[in-house]
Amino acid sequence: EAASGINEKYAVYSQEIDPYNQRRISLLGELRNAIDKDVLQLYFQPQICLDTMEVSGAEVLIRWIHPEYGFIPPDEFIPLAERTGVIQPLTYWICRKAFQFMHSLSSQGYNLNLSINISARNLQDPHFKDQVCKIAKEQDVTLEKVIMELTETAVMHNPDEALRVLGELSAAGIRLSIDDFGTGYSSLSYLKKLPVNEIKIDRSFVMEMAKNNDDQVIVHTTLTMGHNLSLEVVAEGIEDEATLLKLKEMGCDLAQGYHIARPMPANEFFTWLSNYRNDASPSPVASIIK
Ligand code: C2E
Ligand code: MG
Ligand code: MG
Ligand code: MG
Repeated sequence: EAASGINEKYAVYSQEIDPYNQRRISLLGELRNAIDKDVLQLYFQPQICLDTMEVSGAEVLIRWIHPEYGFIPPDEFIPLAERTGVIQPLTYWICRKAFQFMHSLSSQGYNLNLSINISARNLQDPHFKDQVCKIAKEQDVTLEKVIMELTETAVMHNPDEALRVLGELSAAGIRLSIDDFGTGYSSLSYLKKLPVNEIKIDRSFVMEMAKNNDDQVIVHTTLTMGHNLSLEVVAEGIEDEATLLKLKEMGCDLAQGYHIARPMPANEFFTWLSNYRNDASPSPVASIIK
């Protein structure tokens, strides 16, 4: 029955689709069937606490390895999934897989946070919180270590609805993070009303901050504001040691980026974790790049 519902939605959206974009049309049709197949995989990118240099958690990032097109970036297919409604079963699938990973982490003695990206569309699903709780129960994990990341745009899409759903998620123990912070148009006074625990400074401000003074000013201002609102601040897109050390010096809480580690499949993540040492200074970073 789910499949026929999806087809109706395809019909509704078909006027919008560029008839010449064969790849997009074929991806649209295949996405629903890709769920639960090995072609979709979850990758995990570590986050470290800059104060202690310990691993604090990981962000869950989806990958689609297509038999014909090869690697398809999530920036290409997630918007398609959002438009067709496939994002709902897809997000539940992602939660199930992510919670399984979390369960194996804790059974190996790792007590890490897991950040999951969610879409505006998920906030329109009246059963979202209950479904997530149910999946967590099935996978035998608690929600205290789960963080859900939303962009400012997703939150501002329907602010009242977002406020209600985020309140429910928060009451269930899930922590909330504003992703790509600084790229949207949200009002700070509104963000303050949300039960948000964390902001993630967008990588466009972080990637070149070691050599770009304007970016440094933006990062610094965001950090001050975040801390004044009692929020944890994460920087994403750290690509070199100079940036990492600068962020540490500025008092940023958490760090994520290629310089620390790239997103990896679960088995590689475990290997990376067991090799990771947060050795004391003088050169804490040298030990990270193994
Ligand atoms: P995002 O949530 O902002 O994820 C961070 C993106 O930055 C990821 O791209 C990650 O691979 C990339 N990244 C991490 N460190 C670095 C770095 O040092 N340098 C550079 N240049 N990039 C870095 P990715 O995996 O391609 O994901 C892109 C976007 O797709 C995500 O942005 C998110 O909005 C969306 N996405 C990914 N996975 C999911 C998912 O499971 N569900 C949903 N709803 N969206 C997802
Ligand atoms: Mg994210
Ligand atoms: Mg981001
Ligand atoms: Mg993004």
